Amino acid sequence: TAPEIIRNFCIIAHIDHGKSTLADRMLQSTGVVQPRDMKAQYLDRMDIERERGITIKSQAVRMPWEVDGTAYALNMIDTPGHVDFTYEVSRSLAACEGALLLVDAAQGIEAQTLANLYLAMENDLTIIPALNKIDLPAAQPEKYAEELANLIGGDPEDVLLVSGKTGVGVEALLDRIVADIPAPVGVPDAPARAMIFDSVYDSYRGVVTYVRVVDGALTPRQRIQMMSTRASHELLEIGVISPEPNPTKGLGVGEVGYLITGVKDVRQSKVGDTVTDLAKPATESLGGYEDPKPMVFSGLYPLDGSDYPDLRDALDKLKLNDAALVYEPETSAALGFGFRCGFLGLLHLEITRDRLEREFNLDLISTAPNVVYDVTMEDGSETVVTNPSEFPTGGKVAEVREPMVSATILAPSDFVGAIMELCQARRGQLGGMDYLSEDRVELRYRLPLAEIVFDFFDQLKSKTRGYASLDWKADGEEAADLVKVDILLQGEQVDAFSAITHRDKAYSYGVMMTGKLRELIPRQQFEVPIQAAIGSRIIARENIRAIRKDVLAKCYGGDITRKRKLLEKQKEGKKRMKMVGRVEVPQEAFIAALSSD
Ligand code: GDP
Ligand code: MG
Repeated sequence: TAPEIIRNFCIIAHIDHGKSTLADRMLQSTGVVQPRDMKAQYLDRMDIERERGITIKSQAVRMPWEVDGTAYALNMIDTPGHVDFTYEVSRSLAACEGALLLVDAAQGIEAQTLANLYLAMENDLTIIPALNKIDLPAAQPEKYAEELANLIGGDPEDVLLVSGKTGVGVEALLDRIVADIPAPVGVPDAPARAMIFDSVYDSYRGVVTYVRVVDGALTPRQRIQMMSTRASHELLEIGVISPEPNPTKGLGVGEVGYLITGVKDVRQSKVGDTVTDLAKPATESLGGYEDPKPMVFSGLYPLDGSDYPDLRDALDKLKLNDAALVYEPETSAALGFGFRCGFLGLLHLEITRDRLEREFNLDLISTAPNVVYDVTMEDGSETVVTNPSEFPTGGKVAEVREPMVSATILAPSDFVGAIMELCQARRGQLGGMDYLSEDRVELRYRLPLAEIVFDFFDQLKSKTRGYASLDWKADGEEAADLVKVDILLQGEQVDAFSAITHRDKAYSYGVMMTGKLRELIPRQQFEVPIQAAIGSRIIARENIRAIRKDVLAKCYGGDITRKRKLLEKQKEGKKRMKMVGRVEVPQEAFIAALSSD
């Protein structure tokens, strides 16, 4: 396909503004998917994506579209819409010349609208603004067209009005893509260079890699090289997706498609890497390659200890499809054998856990998630702490640094006070504030990741009656007064409950956790103190009073079979008990104490 008739674009939008629905409608309008084959969110292929209504893995589809007698090839690259996957979004954008900026006509601009727009502008993309959901009675197209035009510069009249639901405006939108977005430019006879913007593991075909060719061409049977690792492979198949994979004789300048080399692990086909020709390699890669960096760690343990090998196998399999997932074995006195796993964020953690339970039939406990801390000791040595129970104690710690984020919050101006209060309580530093219009304001904060990654968004929503939106990105690290709080049962430390908190919040964590455990741990034959401690200093304490637990006493002699049954039942119960020192703790108590609510 000649570059002049190619248009590469993506759709960027705040979550729920209708990107997937509009993509579906485009597939229909261009005849790529027949009405009888249509299912909602056609491009969101993973079951989990459909159920949660979010896009995790990007996909690229080629659609034919004719304007004035010329047949164009439009490549639509779907991008993930969640902050956990920002790096994948930025790679998808780098594969395009233009972006459709989609805004819900009843909501207006939100935090991810801005974040994605800035990413698109950094990649020099041509922006086509569009208001979606204009079929809604609550739509305010004039108001928000003005807002959009103010934001990107331009005339409110140039903002397209569409409905992904009814299909209104979709054909005009396709025409506009052809007219406004530049055709790709590259050097056809230069050494091949193609950027990987996604790779997916398929159990039948191995890794399917999505690429955008910049220079030269890729053809079947060619030997290719990955520029970051120098690994080489033979191209077994190459093609375009429309909407199913169709093998072709090759991909040239500006084309978007997939390739298959038979590798079995997505880590050998890294998002952001450059593919070149082994025989005639390019000298410079397309740049931008980054290893995904886990931001949030949690321990995953099988509920039933004998599932440990299955959990390991399941993680090995998931890893084939998820370059961002990291894990290593760990043991916990309280929970037994498991894995310490690193994730891009909380959503990534939830999805991974969900998939392990669902696709691999495992029942899991996950420990309270934590961020990564960098610790400098007084002798100058450095430790990276991904598990709070491994936090070095004693007077030898010189400095602890925690990861920071820069956050953008958009909300109606009435809520500025409430938002500032929340951010202050979370140790935030205000970076700036701008009015997008009379009644909508953008606040920029620098905050510790640990303060926003867990419940911040829920808090923000409840303090702004659901009107605020949030986006954030990693922004270095900073030293803070951080301490490890241990939880002790009868003087024995329970590793799964150790937490690293700011010194000001250590006490409330201690009180909360000891209180929770007092409710959850059954009485024993002896008194059990539950304590929270920083080092050797106790900061909170609860007591579980002793009982005399004599099961047989209830039976008043007599019926021997009933006694036996009771004894068996008690034995049964014991199997699910974990011993912490002399204290028997039912596994349920651990799970309940670790669950966040
Ligand atoms: P995404 O998160 O941006 O991919 O958004 P979805 O396409 O999943 O849409 C979010 C919600 O908005 C879904 O409930 C859709 O049915 C609804 N929706 C999407 N487009 C329209 C539209 O044009 N009109 C109306 N009324 N609802 C829409
Ligand atoms: Mg979607």
